[in-house]
Formats: sequence, structure tokens, C-alpha cells
Amino acid sequence: MSEKEYDLIVIGGGPGGSTAASFVAMAGHRVLLLEREWFPRHQIGESLLPVTIHGICRLLGVDEEIERANFTRKQGGTFRWGKDQEPWTFSFANTWLLSGQGADYAFQVERSRFDEILLRHAGRKGVDVREGHTVLDTIQEAGRTVGVRFTDASGRPQRARARFVIDAGGHNSKIHQHAGERVFAKFFQNIALYGYFENGKRMPSPNEGNILCVAFDEGWFWYIPLSPTLTSVGAVVSKDRYAETFKLGHAGAFQSFVDACPLIKEYLNGARRVTEGPYGIFRVRKDYSYCNTRFWAPGLLLVGDAACFIDPVFSSGVHLATYAALLVARTVNTLLRGTLDAHACTSEFETRYRSEYVAFYDFLVGFYDMLQDEKSYFWSARKVLGTNEADQQAFVRLVAGGATTAEDFLEMRGAKRAFLEEYVASRTRQESPEEFFARYSNASFDANAFTQNLRRGRVEVLAQATQGETRAEDLPVREGGLVPSRDGFHWVTPAKEGT
Ligand code: FAD
Repeated sequence: MSEKEYDLIVIGGGPGGSTAASFVAMAGHRVLLLEREWFPRHQIGESLLPVTIHGICRLLGVDEEIERANFTRKQGGTFRWGKDQEPWTFSFANTWLLSGQGADYAFQVERSRFDEILLRHAGRKGVDVREGHTVLDTIQEAGRTVGVRFTDASGRPQRARARFVIDAGGHNSKIHQHAGERVFAKFFQNIALYGYFENGKRMPSPNEGNILCVAFDEGWFWYIPLSPTLTSVGAVVSKDRYAETFKLGHAGAFQSFVDACPLIKEYLNGARRVTEGPYGIFRVRKDYSYCNTRFWAPGLLLVGDAACFIDPVFSSGVHLATYAALLVARTVNTLLRGTLDAHACTSEFETRYRSEYVAFYDFLVGFYDMLQDEKSYFWSARKVLGTNEADQQAFVRLVAGGATTAEDFLEMRGAKRAFLEEYVASRTRQESPEEFFARYSNASFDANAFTQNLRRGRVEVLAQATQGETRAEDLPVREGGLVPSRDGFHWVTPAKEGT
């Protein structure tokens, strides 16, 4: 059997895989992407963040095609969440989360269409895209990944070799085991049950395209307007209530959640559930909150859900996958060029990716902690889980680095919750983020560091996409660390910058 040689093999053609493949092909390298499905294929993860559209898609050169695709424009998010019984809204145009510059909206996307646009674009950028090709495992030689074994579209076994393999095979991937162990987050041990509806209610303008998230006693709902008439509606509930609740069947369980959530019931009043095609069934996702102990091993790198995911509530999944794709492309491009050693580049990738994950993880724990009905099983169980140190220990070590203990972590939780509650209250009072930060103080909690961490990855990508080589000098994120090259697609040592 002949073994074709590439510079890079990418497993999986979701946003993480096609973005990484494109960025490496754009640097002139030979890239093979193996995707087991035929696109378009269904996927969840429909609510995007502005950085994906105005940062990553722009860098890929696919932003105009995305603009023309007629996806629902998302100005921000509307939440019935926390103390306030009234829904509150944040808009990307007016929040500390974003640096602005025309990048103040995102899209709600049908992932089948969005992912296909990115995959076809990768093909146009020179990636050898093969659908209907399933990777079975990697090829290992002397402790290094040197290629993959796969079946082609006719089911025939094949092999291909490459200097690097990226696993972007999503949550079902098994390849990540070659890099480390998948550790599950106890805190977010939930289950999502979702379906699609025609003619659900819309929020008044200008928020009609917003994601609506509604906390209720059993958990929370997402309500994502995918077109003027089509809506994705999902209930996130406790995993330990799975068996009991699901005795009713998916439709019965879903209806019982809707009945328990007056706002979603009102929005679905008069709507019709889609019962045909890819949207015509209820789907369930569980065990989706985890992080790998390592994101790389010699010759192998992980991005997207193959490496980690947290929780659907703040639309972070596609951002984490595509941000990691940019980081991994810098790593592979630099190593293929041979200008820096492997340890420096892979450590830079791992450090930046993990810190972006941790920033979102921290934020989401604080967000879940915001005051909900203490009598509710779901919300009080989150608090019990959070205070069960033994349960949290393994995960805390992973997200907080060696020094921080579960006790420190739990102490910080209260401060994050208080900060987010204050911030939300300030927004409903129409206070600007600047006014809020000028007056907010809490001696035990560094609000600026918290928000800087949350912004850093996104600010970096937006600066590269919108200002290119005229952007301000990039700073290392740790002592002795690397920075992006001026073209943004390689790593360099800070001292070499500009040479
Ligand atoms: P995927 O999109 O899963 O793509 C992986 C690809 O790899 C697939 O096409 C698969 O067919 C292919 N593949 C797998 N194994 C193989 C193999 N062996 N050989 C070849 N190909 C293979 N994110 C958001 O941004 N916004 C949201 O609103 C949001 N909501 C969510 C709701 C829920 C309930 C869940 C669970 C997640 C949600 N997410 C959301 C997260 C989002 O779905 C993922 O983070 C995102 O899809 C990750 O992209 P990816 O490219 O890593 O993986």
C-alpha cells in the first residue's frame, strides 16, 4: 500500500479542522484533511461570537462569503438569569467583552451551512479535502505520531504520513488519548436536549437576532433564532436527573421542561416543531464538559472539542476551536520553516490555548453561580458540587495550574459571582462599562485581571485581522514566551520581532 506524504494531516472538517488546515495551506504547505461525513452535516453550536466572524473568518478571507450567506445577525444576548426576574440584554456594541471597531455583531448560524463554507474554502486555499474518509488511528514510530490509518470513501484501508497530525475530530475523537487524559468537569455535568421549531416568537428589535438564555428550576434553555422563522431550542438540565426525566421520552421530557419555564412556553406558543429532515428529531448531548491534560504529544496536536469544551451558555465552543486553530497553525508553520525548536512552539500553543479555556471556564462558573432560585434542585446541586472539594480537585489542578488548590478556587468563586452580578446590575441601570470599572472595587478580587484574561485571546485575533502588520507590538504572555510574527501566522522570539 502506498503512503502519500504531507506536511500536515488534519482529522476532522469542523471549524477547528478546516481553519487550522487553511492557515497552514495559506503558508504554502501540503495539507490533507480527512472528514468522515459528507458535508453539509448537522452540528450543534449555532450561536457565534464576533471574534469568529471579524477575526478568524477575516483572516481566512471568507468573511465576505459569510456576510452574504444571510445568517441571522446577532447583536448580543438576552438573559433571564440571576437575581433579576426581568430579562436583561447585553449588546456587543456596548460591553467590556469586546474592543469594538465595527466588530460589534456576530451571527446565529445553521452549522451545516457555516461549516460547509469553511470546509469548501479550505479546499480553495489548497487543502486536499477528502470527505467520507474515517481516521482509525495514528501511526506511531519511536514515540512520535508520523501519520494516520484511515478508510477511504469506498471503505478501503489507507495510510498517509506527515510531519504533523492535528486532531480536530470533535468530542467523539479517540485520538486525543495519545496526547493525554480527558478530565471531565464535575461542575458542568449537564445534559442538553434540543430540537427545532418554526414560527416561534421573536424579541423586539433590535434584539430579534439575539440568543435568549432562560434559567428555570430544572436548568436553563437556549433559544436561538436561525432564520426569521426557524429557532433552535435546547434545555440544559442535570445529568443525574437523566433517567428519571427521560422516562417520558424526548418529546415528553422536552415538553415538561417547556411547561416549567414560562418565558420559553410563551415564546413557543403557536410554534410548530420541525419533524422532518436533519432538524426533525430531538437530539441529546452529554459529557461535553472536559479538558485534556495535554494538548500535544510529539507530532500530534489537538484543537477544538478534541481538546476541550466547557458549556454552551456563552457561545464559546466555535471561538475556542478556531482560536486554537490559529495558535496551532502558527506552531506547525514555524516548525515546518525550522526557525524555532519544537518545545518552545508547542508550549506556546498549549499555554495560550489553556489560558483562553481557563478564562472562559472561570467566567462561566461565576455566571452559573449568579443567584438563581436556591430551592431549585438544579441550581442548588451546582453549589453542592462546587463545594465538594474532592470532586473538583482533579479538574481544578488542570485549569488552575499546580499551585492553586480547590479551596482557593472555591474562595474565588464567590468573588466572581459578586462581580458578575454587580456588572449585570450596572448594565440594567444603563451605566457604561467605563463608569462601572471606575467605581467597582473589591479588595479580594482583581476585576481588571479577570476581564483582561477573558479579553486577551479575542483582542489579539481582532487586532491581527483588522490592523494586520500595523497593530501594536504583541507582548509575550509569560516570561520567555514567544509572540506572533508580524504576519501573524508564525511564532517568533520577542527580540527577533521586526527583523
Ligand atoms: P466538530 O464541529 O465536532 O467537528 C469535528 C469533525 O470531525 C466532524 O465533522 C466529524 O465528522 C469529524 N470526525 C470525527 N471523527 C473523525 C474521524 N475519526 N475521522 C475523520 N473525521 C472525523 N459552540 C458555540 O460556539 N456556540 C454555541 O451556541 C454552542 N452550543 C453548544 C450546545 C451544546 C449542547 C454543545 C454540546 C456544544 C455547543 N457548542 C457551542 C460547542 C460546539 O458545538 C463545538 O465547540 C464546536 O462544534 C467544536 O468544533 P470542532 O471543529 O472542534 O468539532
